[in-house]
Amino acid sequence: TFHKSKGQHILKNPLLVDSIVQKAGIKSTDVILEIGPGTGNLTKKLLEAGKMVIAVELDSRMVLELERRFQGTPYSTRLKVIQGDVLKTDLPYFDICVANIPYQISSPLTFKLLFHQPAFRCAVIMFQKEFAMRLVAQPGDKLYCRLSVNTQLYARVSHLLKVGRNNFRPPPKVDSSVVRIEPRKPRPQVNAKEWDGFIRICFIRKNKTLGSIFRLKHVLSLLEKNYKTLQALQSSQNASLGNTDIGMDIISSLGDSKEDQNMEMDVGSDNEMEVEDGDDDEDTEGEVSEFKVKVLDVLREGQFEEKRASKLTQQEFLYLLSLFNKAGIHFS
Ligand code: SAM
Repeated sequence: TFHKSKGQHILKNPLLVDSIVQKAGIKSTDVILEIGPGTGNLTKKLLEAGKMVIAVELDSRMVLELERRFQGTPYSTRLKVIQGDVLKTDLPYFDICVANIPYQISSPLTFKLLFHQPAFRCAVIMFQKEFAMRLVAQPGDKLYCRLSVNTQLYARVSHLLKVGRNNFRPPPKVDSSVVRIEPRKPRPQVNAKEWDGFIRICFIRKNKTLGSIFRLKHVLSLLEKNYKTLQALQSSQNASLGNTDIGMDIISSLGDSKEDQNMEMDVGSDNEMEVEDGDDDEDTEGEVSEFKVKVLDVLREGQFEEKRASKLTQQEFLYLLSLFNKAGIHFS
């Protein structure tokens, strides 16, 4: 019996398993991290291809089944099983990650991997199709969103395989996709909290111009508060842009928690989940504060006033953030 709550859908198509392993480009010297090995169909092929497999599995029954499956075989010395929740586990060194994961942990797991150090070579992961499509979406694509931007800041992402639901037992209610994630090296030198705060604001209404977003009262007042706090700190010669440590809070913030709470939900229909519309937040026409002028000057300097987050590239976001920072405006 399989636990639906643990996202237990076993890969039953051996050709598909072969194809995933082949696309991963495993070397015989590789240490492989597998997340959610289940009964070990993928694990076996990973053991054949690499030097060592470290598998993290939540379900103790599956851990037993896995150990039993490889007991007394030459594989057993090259397989290390860690029982536990991968999100709460300190991950060991690995070269490559290959996994058919439970979809409810897609987002936090992706960011946990992206912040893992030292950076691995690549991860080849099965996701719910809608999640995968948002991961790989490019500027101007309908599905381009915070998740795309945040992931692609830290990694190159590409779509590898479409996988129909009938390749699993029991079949899930959604289709799947295998995606390759290659961490960028070196990792971009941005403060993760600052980046997150900045991207959240740009995507408040992803199809509105940045000019209109940065005129919103609550946006301006937030930025002005940050600005004043920093000025005060700096004048007391105590400047600090805050903590650059990567904790679980930022890992879950960068993703999209809404879809992690509910596996098998259809996230394809509504890609503008960041929208929080409210009439109470009209722009600040009339009162032109000094700070507002400062913010709008930054947008004009980079010719961003008429641009929209839905079409901005990674480089443009980084550039705009650097212009804000140069003007002393910060997002965390
Ligand atoms: N890899 C197997 C396969 O392809 O046949 C099973 C994949 S199944 C989709 C996901 C597996 O992840 C299940 O075995 C489940 O028990 C395990 N799992 C669920 N939540 C987990 C978590 N937080 N950490 C580690 N493993 C988890």
